[in-house]
Amino acid sequence: MQTIDNLIGGKPVRSASTRSAPVFNPATGEQAAVLPLSTAAELDAAVAIAKAALPRWADTPPLKRARIMFKFKDLLEQNADAIARAISAEHGKTHDDALGEVQRGLEVVEFACGIPHLLKGEYSKNVGPAIDTYSDRQPLGVVAGITPFNFPCMVPLWMYPVAIACGNTFILKPSERDPSAAVLVASLLQEAGLPPGVLNVVHGDKEVVDAILANPDIKAVSFVGSTPIASYVYATGTANGKRVQALGGAKNHMVVMPDADMDKVADALMGAGYGSAGERCMAVSVAVPVGEKTADALIETLAPRVRALKIGPATDREAEMGPLVTKQHMEKVLGYIDKGVAEGAKLVVDGRGFKLQGYEGGYFVGGTLFDHVDKKMTIYREEIFGPVLSVLRAPSYDEALELINAHEFGNGTAIFTRDGDAARSFADKVEAGMVGINVPIPVPVAYHSFGGWKRSIFGDHAIYGPEGVRFYTRIKTVTSRWPDGIKSGAVFNFPTM
Ligand code: NAD
Repeated sequence: MQTIDNLIGGKPVRSASTRSAPVFNPATGEQAAVLPLSTAAELDAAVAIAKAALPRWADTPPLKRARIMFKFKDLLEQNADAIARAISAEHGKTHDDALGEVQRGLEVVEFACGIPHLLKGEYSKNVGPAIDTYSDRQPLGVVAGITPFNFPCMVPLWMYPVAIACGNTFILKPSERDPSAAVLVASLLQEAGLPPGVLNVVHGDKEVVDAILANPDIKAVSFVGSTPIASYVYATGTANGKRVQALGGAKNHMVVMPDADMDKVADALMGAGYGSAGERCMAVSVAVPVGEKTADALIETLAPRVRALKIGPATDREAEMGPLVTKQHMEKVLGYIDKGVAEGAKLVVDGRGFKLQGYEGGYFVGGTLFDHVDKKMTIYREEIFGPVLSVLRAPSYDEALELINAHEFGNGTAIFTRDGDAARSFADKVEAGMVGINVPIPVPVAYHSFGGWKRSIFGDHAIYGPEGVRFYTRIKTVTSRWPDGIKSGAVFNFPTM
């Protein structure tokens, strides 16, 4: 059985922990590897290595840091297929979906290649007689990232390329459910020429997370995961004086207006609702057709497509959707479907009991579609994170908007319409951080920034893009005077022009 190592000081290091977690192949249910769960002392030792690497790295010219990112991008391209296979083996998503994840992560590396330009400050000459002022963005120090299972390659790449290009050193704590892809990708950055100790991967669970939050040498923490843990990481990290951005869960609604093209809507909902088995923080989990006629047409167009979903292991190139990540998560999703039925929603397509010949031990759940979902129901209020789409019928556009704005989460949302007026008003008034107009999953490109609103984020900065540069740096403003000769006499009033 393979044991997965940490990556510390530029090389693989076997944890000496007595605790470990099994890593499974979700398509078969068989154990694929053992992950030692590192101790708090091992985390602290890795932080000491990252701290020792900091002064030289922070002083390395940004252009030299960027050149390593260029090489890293090249290596990611060359190894995209192998990374995608490593993702699918432990996460279960289809190969094409995993390749897409590698590509979206790689785009953040492309953004980080522009770091000399992104770190340029501002300069004002003659703010007073012979006085000049300039501002500069400096790295924070050792920073850490804690990541979820659903994008084991992309979410770490949302964080450390930007943090490292800014001159910080980094500790990554990947998800313990699918940890291999993160190690493979980090080792490519070593191969690209990153000095040892600048990026370190420490596997583990709550013990390592708590050690990150407690370690005084860690100046900032980026977290992506579920809302209860995001809220805990934010509260604990900030109480310990750290800068924290913690991105949480979601319940993304897609409004379907009566004038929308129903075939396009159904296609969009198939990809956005069932792609990656619904295990995406930007998955659409609620469709909100406006008016009964729109709702009836939507169900009629959508239901046959949900029944026809091709489900299989990642090795099946025809599969559109794979298994869920673990047995425990599969049971949670099945529990939500039972609850939806018990609370009175109409189950149009039932994904329970789905079995695949040859993969009977896999964590598969079939595509599931609920109609007549009510806003009080558990399946509407909570994030299911599975291939379960709820249809909640809204009598009017205003009521659809109110529904979204009243929800606890505000990650992404979308509207499908041909009406520019409705689309424009929706983009302006909806309370969510990322909005799609005839785009079901509006994940911003790498040179914009990603972040929700409400309980989908804790902290002031969205992740990657310009917001990432702001998060991983602090501003310093220098005011300098080079007078002719030495002047005498103190000045007691606040200087003004
Ligand atoms: P999770 O919260 O269970 O785990 C995330 C990280 O927190 C992991 O590294 C895990 O080891 C750690 N963790 C788990 N329990 C902990 C505890 N009690 N104390 C300290 N640390 C703990 O999330 P997950 O199941 O891996 O990922 C799915 C969730 O992530 C979903 O809610 C999804 O919406 C969310 N997500 C959000 C975004 C976003 O950008 N907003 C992106 C991807 C995923």
